[in-house]
Amino acid sequence: MDTATTRRLPNNVNGKFYTTEECDGCAYCASIAPENFDFEKETNTYYVARQPRSSEEEEYMREAAEDCPVDAICITGEQALHGAA
Ligand code: SF4
Repeated sequence: MDTATTRRLPNNVNGKFYTTEECDGCAYCASIAPENFDFEKETNTYYVARQPRSSEEEEYMREAAEDCPVDAICITGEQALHGAA
C-alpha cells in the first residue's frame, strides 16, 4: 500500500526519518545533517544512521528532506511533504 515504505533502504535505523532507494548519493543531506546521515559505499546511497536527538537536529533533517533533489528522504506519516513544495 505505502510504496515509499517498501522502498525504504535497509540500513536506516528505526524511527520516523528514513531514506529510500531513490537516493542517488549526492551527499546533500549529510552536508546539512552530518550527525544523522551516513554513506554506504556499496550501493552509493545515504541512510539515516541516527534519528534526531534535539529539535535542532530535527530541523536540519527536515530541511534535508525538503531539499533532497530526488525526494528520497521520508518522514513516517508525513509523505505528503514531498508534494507540498
Ligand atoms: S539528499 Fe537525497 S539523494 Fe542526496 S544523498 Fe541525501 S537522500 Fe540521497
